[in-house]
Amino acid sequence: MKESEYITIEEALKKGSGKVNLRGWIYRQRASNKFVFIVLRDESEIIQCVIPKSKSPEIFEKAEKLTIESSVKISGELKEDVRAPTGFEVSVSELEIIQIADPFPITEHQSPELLYDNRHLWIRSRKLNAILKIRHTVVGAIHSFFRGRGYYEFDAPIFQPSQSEGGATLFEVKYFDDIMYLSQTWQLYAEAGIFSLGKIYNMGPTFRAEKSKTSRHLAEFWMAEMEAAWMTLDGAVKVAKDEIRFIVQEVLKDNKKELEILERDIKLLEHYAKAEYPTIKYAEALEILNNEYQMNVPWGKDLRTKEEEKIAEHFKVPVVVTHYPTEIMGFYKPPSEENPKEALCFDMLAPEGYCEIIGGSERSLLVEDMKRRLEADGEDPENYSWYFALRRYGSVPHSGYGLGVERVVQWICGLDNIKDSIPFPRTMLRKSP
Ligand code: ATP
Ligand code: MG
Repeated sequence: MKESEYITIEEALKKGSGKVNLRGWIYRQRASNKFVFIVLRDESEIIQCVIPKSKSPEIFEKAEKLTIESSVKISGELKEDVRAPTGFEVSVSELEIIQIADPFPITEHQSPELLYDNRHLWIRSRKLNAILKIRHTVVGAIHSFFRGRGYYEFDAPIFQPSQSEGGATLFEVKYFDDIMYLSQTWQLYAEAGIFSLGKIYNMGPTFRAEKSKTSRHLAEFWMAEMEAAWMTLDGAVKVAKDEIRFIVQEVLKDNKKELEILERDIKLLEHYAKAEYPTIKYAEALEILNNEYQMNVPWGKDLRTKEEEKIAEHFKVPVVVTHYPTEIMGFYKPPSEENPKEALCFDMLAPEGYCEIIGGSERSLLVEDMKRRLEADGEDPENYSWYFALRRYGSVPHSGYGLGVERVVQWICGLDNIKDSIPFPRTMLRKSP
C-alpha cells in the first residue's frame, strides 16, 4: 500500500463508508472465541475494528496477539454502528502488525505519580492528546493576536546577567568562568526593543525556582509577553482582556471535540469568550473581601490564593485588579502620581479557582526610585546600568504584561494541576522524564 492510500481515523469517520486503510496503535483489545474487537487510535481519533473468526481465521489469530499500544496497519470496510465508541466500525480484511508492544506500564486507575513517571507514554492518552491540541491552539492564537495587531516578534536572551523578578526564584547556571541566570522574564530586554519596534511580543521559555508546591507553579514554563511604547496602564489592560477573549474564541472554534473529551463546560467558555471583564482597584478588592466575605485583609498585603479565588468567583469572569501596594511590587512598577502608595500595575485573575493568569504594569521612569527599591532587595543597581540608560535616550511612557501559557491552558481545559498543561513538566520535585 502506498503512503497516500492511508487516511487518518478522523478522515475515515467523515468518509462514513467504503474501504479504508488506517495506521495506528491498539487502544483497546477484547477477544472472545468468535470475534476480536480492537479500538484503534491515531493522532486524530479512535475507531472500533472487528475481526470475526468465521471470516478469516488467519487474521483472527494475529489479532488475538495484539497488546495495548501495538502498532498496526489495517484495511477494511467501514460502516455506521451506533454501539461503537465513535459511531462507526471497520470490518477488517487485512491486518499488518508493525510491532507487538511489551505489556504497557499504564493500566486503568493509576496514581498520578505513576502517570508522571511514565509521561513519555502517557502523552499518548486521549486526555493528554486533547490538552496538547488545545495548547497548540492557544499558542497559535497568541501569535495571530499580536501579529494581527501590528506587533513585532522580538526575542530576548535566556541567559541573563541579573534578576528581574526577585532573587529568590533565580536559577543560577555556570557560564564559562562566570555565573549567569536563566530568564525569569523577557521584560527588561523588551523595554529596550520598543524603542526600535514600537509594539512587540514574544513567547518563550521562562524559569523560576518556585519552592512552594502549588498546583499553579512550574519551574519551567512559557510566558507570552507584550510591551508597547506610549501605552498606559489602561491601554495594556484593554489589550490583555482582548487577548484572553480571542484565545478562548479560537479554542472554541478549533477544539470543541477536545473540550468534550475533557468534559469542560463549553457554555461557560462561550460566556468567557463574549463577556466584559471588570477592572477593579486593589483597594476595592479589599472592600469586597472584607465587607462581603469577612476576610480581614489589611491594606498593604499581597492577595493570597484564597483571596484571589474569592475575587474571581465574585465576578464569575476573568477580573483585572489594578493598583496593588507599590512597596510589595517589583522595582519597575511605578507609583501612581495621585497616590504613590499604589502602583500602576495589574493582575488578571481567572474564575473557577484558577487565579492569576496575567501580570503587567506601566514601567517606571523614575531611575532613583528604582535604584532605591533594587538596593532594598539586596541588588546592585550597577548591574542595571544599561536598563537605566533607556531612560536617558528618548524615554517615553510604556507598558507591558506577561501571560502564563500553562495557566491559561490549565484554566481553559479545566485542569486540577498545571503539570498537565505542558508535555514534560518541571517542578521542584519533578525533573524526569
Ligand atoms: P504568582 O503570584 O502566581 O507566582 P507572579 O506574580 O510571580 O505570579 P508574574 O511575574 O506577573 O507572576 O508573571 C506573569 C505571569 O506568568 C503570571 O501571571 C502567570 O500567569 C505566569 N507565571 C508566573 N510564575 C509562574 C510559574 N511558576 N509557573 C507557571 N506560570 C507562571
Ligand atoms: Mg510568582
